[in-house]
Amino acid sequence: MGVVVANVDISPNKAALVNQSAATRVETIPLTLNHKPDAEISVKYKAPLKQHHTSVNTESEAPGKFTTASVAKLIEPQNTPDPKIETVTIKRGDTLSSLFNQRGLNKELHTIMQLGKSVKELKSVYPGQKIHFYVNGDDLAAIELETSVNRRLKISKQDSNYLVNNIVREFETRQKTASSTIQNSLFLDGKRAGLSAALIMELANIFGWDIDFALDIRSGDQFSVVYEEKFLDGEKVKDGIIVAAEFINAGDRYRAVRYTDSQGFTDYFSEDGRSMRKPFLRTPVDFARISSGFNLKRKHPILNKIRAHKGVDYAASTGTPIKASGDGKIVHRGNKGGYGRTIIVRHGSQYSTLYAHMHKYAKNTQVGKRIKQGQIIGYIGKSGLATGPHLHYEFRVNGVHRNPLTVKLPDAKPLPKSEMVRFKSATADQFAQLELYSSTLLAQNKK
Ligand SMILES: [Zn+2]
Repeated sequence: MGVVVANVDISPNKAALVNQSAATRVETIPLTLNHKPDAEISVKYKAPLKQHHTSVNTESEAPGKFTTASVAKLIEPQNTPDPKIETVTIKRGDTLSSLFNQRGLNKELHTIMQLGKSVKELKSVYPGQKIHFYVNGDDLAAIELETSVNRRLKISKQDSNYLVNNIVREFETRQKTASSTIQNSLFLDGKRAGLSAALIMELANIFGWDIDFALDIRSGDQFSVVYEEKFLDGEKVKDGIIVAAEFINAGDRYRAVRYTDSQGFTDYFSEDGRSMRKPFLRTPVDFARISSGFNLKRKHPILNKIRAHKGVDYAASTGTPIKASGDGKIVHRGNKGGYGRTIIVRHGSQYSTLYAHMHKYAKNTQVGKRIKQGQIIGYIGKSGLATGPHLHYEFRVNGVHRNPLTVKLPDAKPLPKSEMVRFKSATADQFAQLELYSSTLLAQNKK
């Protein structure tokens, strides 16, 4: 079976429809030193920020159809000459005072700092950050501090007052797809398919209630991911969310689509409208922390898989956090013979989980404490009879040991009927898309 790595940019037209323009949003917070602000002015215009930077008067040149120009005239001085722009990249050792001092602008800095909270980001500038000075002769017309890749804090002079704006550029969002068949590890094959480490972790998080990514990923497993990328000026700035994903693990197919319900709650759901979140996580340790998790050369990401005994062992370095696999109550914490430092959690009347060989316990894990799914309850060690640091994990149903890797875990409740109609129509396209990628991948694998 060959490795199939697909990395397809889907439907630029569709993306264009969703994001017709990378609009720039300006949030204006009028601040005055001498009198109370009496009006809030909010300006929206479509001029890209780049143009905006070439001149402080760009607002009045913006091709906005209505209020833009007139509002801009109100808030920008009209007959000022074009200011000189100086862009400074902050270096180690620079302070705001030193930068303003060098330009003879101490007085202006003093005035600006009196604006208080709204300019607090000026107080924590850091090396590498950019600041733009707009100067008219001896007069500071404006400064702009780049506070993130798409946001600037702009402070501009208005007569004797300063006006603070947050200039936010909206990203252009494009959808992308990556799919692959796993041959080495989720990380290696995920990266080869074009996914960042963060997206791979996100993918594992989405399916973490169904699949044990630490121990149960097999050669031949497949995944398809539809995700977003964020662009500015045609350049990719960062990854966005995963929109939809499929994972086929040992022949079992899991599909999830991101959906925001009518209450505004966002989560990943299976095709039958059940949240991917379930009462139990498959793996009580981050799979990336498992010893072989990052070892890309290893054929199988399993270092210490012992199924003969009544639990599963996850080998990881001493101190790796152990997460409770479900909500519950601590019913045991202490030494337990060969198990060493052990915590047992009871989950309702039927289920309990056991975590052994801990190096130490986490805070707030005394017997009787309620804990949440994913909460760190302790740290991996080798207390008791253990040859090396690992977590020994057991899962019991009605007191009987079950294999944590294969035990049928309770499902999440489906969405209420009233929500299902909306869910079906909102997600039909994404599920169809997954079907398409999945069948393409299968066809390629058969070649
Ligand atoms: Zn064990």
